[in-house]
Amino acid sequence: QVTDPLAKEGPSSPSYDWFQTDALVTIVIYTKQKDIYLDSVIADHRDDSFRAETVIKDYSYLIHIALSHEIQEDFSVRVVENVGKIEIVLKKKENTSWKCLGHPLENHNSLIPKKDTGLYYRKCQLISKEDVTHDTKLFCLMLPPSTHLQVPTGLHVYFKLTITGTEIVKPYTPISDSLFSEFKEPVLPNNKYIYFLIKIYPAGLFTPELDHLQIGDYVSVSNPEGNFKISQFQDLEDLFLLAAGTGFTPMVKVLSYALTHIPSLRKVKLMFFNKTEDDIIWRNQLEKLAFKDKRFDLEFVLSVPTSEWNGKRGYISPALLSEFLKRSLDTSKVLICICGPMPFTEQGMKLLHDLNFSKDEIHSFTA
Ligand code: FAD
Ligand code: NAD
Repeated sequence: QVTDPLAKEGPSSPSYDWFQTDALVTIVIYTKQKDIYLDSVIADHRDDSFRAETVIKDYSYLIHIALSHEIQEDFSVRVVENVGKIEIVLKKKENTSWKCLGHPLENHNSLIPKKDTGLYYRKCQLISKEDVTHDTKLFCLMLPPSTHLQVPTGLHVYFKLTITGTEIVKPYTPISDSLFSEFKEPVLPNNKYIYFLIKIYPAGLFTPELDHLQIGDYVSVSNPEGNFKISQFQDLEDLFLLAAGTGFTPMVKVLSYALTHIPSLRKVKLMFFNKTEDDIIWRNQLEKLAFKDKRFDLEFVLSVPTSEWNGKRGYISPALLSEFLKRSLDTSKVLICICGPMPFTEQGMKLLHDLNFSKDEIHSFTA
């Protein structure tokens, strides 16, 4: 029985129904909420079971069924955004009439707090691996045909590998290509590829193993996690991004989304902290973007520069921030995103509070 924790925020609990034709079975989920998009639904078909998790605010609505008949590997997902209706179209293996959809599995037809859903993984195949800097690589993974998953802007996933008999899990943040002309994403239907920028630490536990994967090997990838909400962009005028090292990764999609989807946006400024010039991820691409789009400004800050470096130096500091965080209008609606090593983020958060930015104006990316 579905309880209704959304009752105080929205009309009523989700429900589902199904219907069939000779060749297809369609599962329809009525979320009864607005703001449901293709990336709100994560669906997997494995053996004879079908699992679809729909993220509705801070809850997940689960469909989890042992199907009564066999289906083909791939399926499609459609969303009617304005009414929050989701249609999942499965292809029958045989054109027989199904008497029932199947029998319910754990948590089927229930609405549970997102934090209690646990991580669900599927195996993704390594398609390519390219050097980006001396220690950072671009990994391309392919989702199985039996999975529908798109990672929303600002969220991360967990990778799982078994290393010397122990399962190890670490978070990584997918990136997107759209603004960076040199990074050409091969066109595949249904967003089957996911890209990651990952720094390999020779003495690290996980990344050397990841680096040793061969093309065609598999890594388990979880459902998206994180607390960034796209609504934080609403009516935004000034977006400030403070990134250190691979803390740049969440900024890639945030930057793309803001420049392409936020009509109110006046300015996006990225302050990118690195040790040396060689450590700067996508320097050329960022400089080209700043040249092309006048709304985007870029500042590199190096903590271990060579003597030739003419730009800014040091760690995050009050002086750097107060000069950088200038609103384009006194009343501009601002959002400051910050991500990097823990001491960087903690120091940055403290400085931002000292500069009187409110909690609503700051988003820190953490696990
Ligand atoms: P670790 O074993 O954690 O070691 C990292 C470094 O610290 C090594 O140099 C190691 O020698 C050193 N070290 C380890 N333990 C100690 C110690 N006790 N004392 C001193 N030094 C030590 N990373 C990315 O590259 N790309 C991403 O997109 C990305 N997204 C992330 C998203 C989130 C939400 C979070 C929290 C982290 C993200 N990370 C990302 C970081 C990633 O999860 C891993 O922490 C990173 O890949 C390091 O993993 P590792 O096991 O190889 O290294
Ligand atoms: P790095 O060691 O190359 O350092 C990059 C910059 O961070 C330095 O140049 C410096 O400006 C700053 N910095 C480092 N240590 C600092 C300190 N003690 N105080 C103040 N500033 C400091 O960074 P890296 O190896 O690329 O590490 C990136 C970090 O970002 C990792 O810890 C990773 O877990 C984190 N990360 C988090 C997320 C997330 O939470 N969503 C996503 C990606 C990366």
